[in-house]
Amino acid sequence: MIPVKDAEALILSLVEPLTDKEVLPLEAVHGRILAEPITSALDFPYWDNSAMDGYAVRFTDVKEATPENPIILEIIEEIPAGNAPHKLIKTGQAARIFTGAMMPEGADTVIMQENTEKQENIVKILQAPEKVGSFVRCQGDYYKAENPLLSSGICLNAPEIAVLATAQCLRVPVYRRPQGVIFSTGNELISPDGSLQPGQIIDSNQYALGAFIAQQGAIPLKMGIIPDDPSLLRTTIQRSVQQGDFVLSTGGVSVGDYDYIEGILEELGAHIALRSVAIKPGKPLTVAKFPNGCLYFGIPGNPVSALVTCWRFIKPALKKLSGWAGDPTPQWLNAQLQQPLTSGGQRETYFWGRLQIVAEDYQFFLAKGSQNSANLINLAQINALAVMPVGQTHLDTGERVKALFIDR
Ligand code: AMP
Ligand code: MG
Repeated sequence: MIPVKDAEALILSLVEPLTDKEVLPLEAVHGRILAEPITSALDFPYWDNSAMDGYAVRFTDVKEATPENPIILEIIEEIPAGNAPHKLIKTGQAARIFTGAMMPEGADTVIMQENTEKQENIVKILQAPEKVGSFVRCQGDYYKAENPLLSSGICLNAPEIAVLATAQCLRVPVYRRPQGVIFSTGNELISPDGSLQPGQIIDSNQYALGAFIAQQGAIPLKMGIIPDDPSLLRTTIQRSVQQGDFVLSTGGVSVGDYDYIEGILEELGAHIALRSVAIKPGKPLTVAKFPNGCLYFGIPGNPVSALVTCWRFIKPALKKLSGWAGDPTPQWLNAQLQQPLTSGGQRETYFWGRLQIVAEDYQFFLAKGSQNSANLINLAQINALAVMPVGQTHLDTGERVKALFIDR
């Protein structure tokens, strides 16, 4: 049994990020990981343009303007956004200009319309601009062409997609999505559409894990329910390892007579890196790597153990596998407990509940009902896990606790 932190590091050390790429249209890359650095041939802004509705002027013409002594300029052109200016602004002249419109040659400054007074084809400038270039967004101010624009390994969300669109990058290189094979093991399991007989249990794990995998941006491939039969398990594991970048199976990794997974992994030549972790729930986590690179996670069968394992260990592993270049380890925050917590103190203990922001502080509300790893009912609507470290057995209401969001 190894500490949680060591298990996390060991699992991450087994993960080799995917390098296979695909090129997708801009419309299809939301949530994907960029696989190559992007540069643009365009400056941004593309050209000098106005940040205000007002008048494009020469600074030296208007630098002395005051409400008492306005400067009068001749309006020689009107430049709406989208139109190229045609005329040169000479001393004593101005162009009517609108937000986003291209600056005319000769002008270097924009006077906002609120500080002007228009009379037919002349404009009175009632206030001097602060400096040369006031209210002008200059070409290349935000980005100079051919410089690095986006680096590879970032996740593409709305802001990055806006940048790609502006750079006219319509075909985007991204890493392919990892494929994860899932199956449930246990003679007691039936699928949710079965008729429940005494002693049986409905397989919820396969559905929960399928949703979890999809939420991580990977592709779930479900293999169904496999009975506790060594030869069926062996063929299922062999097939899964050929099809997936990683495999998640639940059940059969404990010390019971029907727990065959570990033995079969060894038989099939996998390197078993981890057999159990000092965590509650989720102790009998088995992690192995096959010679073809496929990672195998033998997850305990209890529904809460299975999901806590996914959130604590498999989520960081999938982040690294995806090609994402950030730190895959969980982002902890510090929350105030709204209920007391107790644990045995032998293993790092995870409690499930809700984090809420109250008065700009995080508060952790323990899920109501039993914190038992077989109680999947009170998992509904949780958004966080709180952690009690090894050696600690009690925390009171009002004390601070380390917590993490599970859905981010
Ligand atoms: P195991 O890890 O195989 O010893 O299973 C531990 C507990 O989790 C047993 O009570 C199982 O019935 C339950 N369990 C195992 N697999 C599933 C599953 N796929 N869905 C829901 N419960 C399960
Ligand atoms: Mg079992």
